[in-house]
Amino acid sequence: MEIGRYTAQVFLLFGKEVDMSKVAYTKRNVEKCWCGSCPVQVHSKCAHDLYEASKTTDELPPPDQLGGLYCSTGTAACEDLSFVNLCNCPACQVWGENGLVGNHYCEHDPAVS
Ligand code: SF4
Ligand code: SF4
Repeated sequence: MEIGRYTAQVFLLFGKEVDMSKVAYTKRNVEKCWCGSCPVQVHSKCAHDLYEASKTTDELPPPDQLGGLYCSTGTAACEDLSFVNLCNCPACQVWGENGLVGNHYCEHDPAVS
């Protein structure tokens, strides 16, 4: 487990912690993330407030305090998202850099290796 970032998905395998998340939970990836303008959560006050709060700090908030980077963490903590709307992920730099193929990570699991 790296110091200075959160490990989004940790599984126990033969007694050892194994990071299965394909996308690193880093401030740099948060800054590239397009979830903040996504139609799925653009009308969510919960996600909007978390997303805006995360911009005012240099610290990397824990996953349940961030309205984005769901490809790394999976299901959103906020419950007022509109999952029927289109997902911004395929247009995002993080999506391309990590060779992702899925979308709507805020509704489902994170991208795993
Ligand atoms: S994971 Fe996709 S659908 Fe969910 S908020 Fe981010 S861009 Fe939108
Ligand atoms: S691929 Fe989607 S969830 Fe991941 S950083 Fe980009 S917009 Fe956010």
